[in-house]
Amino acid sequence: MSRIAYVNGRYQPWRDATVHVEDRGYQFADGVYEVCEVRGGRMVDERRHMARLERSLGALHMAMPMSPAALGVVMRETIRRNRVVNGIAYLQVTRGVARRDHAFPPSGTAPAVVITARAIDGAGNVAMAEKGIGVVTVPDNRWGRVDIKSIALLPNVLAKQTAREQGAREAWFVGRDGKVTEGSSSNAWIVTADGKVVTRAADSAILRGITRDVLIRVISAQGLAFEERPFAVAEALAAREAFLTSATQIVMPVVRINGKAVGEGKPGPVARALRQAFHRHAEWS
Ligand code: PMP
Repeated sequence: MSRIAYVNGRYQPWRDATVHVEDRGYQFADGVYEVCEVRGGRMVDERRHMARLERSLGALHMAMPMSPAALGVVMRETIRRNRVVNGIAYLQVTRGVARRDHAFPPSGTAPAVVITARAIDGAGNVAMAEKGIGVVTVPDNRWGRVDIKSIALLPNVLAKQTAREQGAREAWFVGRDGKVTEGSSSNAWIVTADGKVVTRAADSAILRGITRDVLIRVISAQGLAFEERPFAVAEALAAREAFLTSATQIVMPVVRINGKAVGEGKPGPVARALRQAFHRHAEWS
């Protein structure tokens, strides 16, 4: 099937879907993005993703390129044109095309908007969740504003590659204090020996995941004990369960950290139950 991308106002066939060499996203990573889950042909938590997009743009002194409703229409149209039933929609906004100069371009420079959509292997994800995945830890060497969903992802790219080279699926960043911040493309969680679900508070050291926000509601609805605080790698290794969250993986059990088993080395009941309940608490559009 031929793929279609939305690029600056046009739905383009894949081979023509290009941006200018002086797009500030290309030259400076001067832009932000969102990844939204598509399930049964519908977008999951669109409203929350739009709110986070607006916040990320605001932090970079950029306005929304169009209203959240209009962006939603374009995202849905891109999903439809690509016939995506289960997958993801990707949205990127950069500060636009201008002569290369670090300082902002003249006001009135149009932001550049790119939207793509693609299917993901749902069965593969389910199989992975049944087995659980391994993570490795890497030093968190990112900048101080990782709460902005910026397209500047080089430390995340390098961390993910390190994980893959060590036979793991994800890398967990660890701060100078020895505490886990988050994954290279996910938030990090544990279930302590006494049954508390723990994840780090959403300060400027992590990206506030939409999946994380919704999962906190699921946890509360299930009457589980919840604590928002950092945890060390040693505590994660001593935990009953560990897992990660993201729009593409939802709740993914982590069964090994740096090659050592977490708990019994297999997915635990809390992660499994939260994964199953998640979509009942998400918003659909
Ligand atoms: N942290 C980072 C660094 C990420 O890239 C992602 C994925 N976008 C997340 C956390 C999880 O966010 P979400 O649940 O919104 O996908």
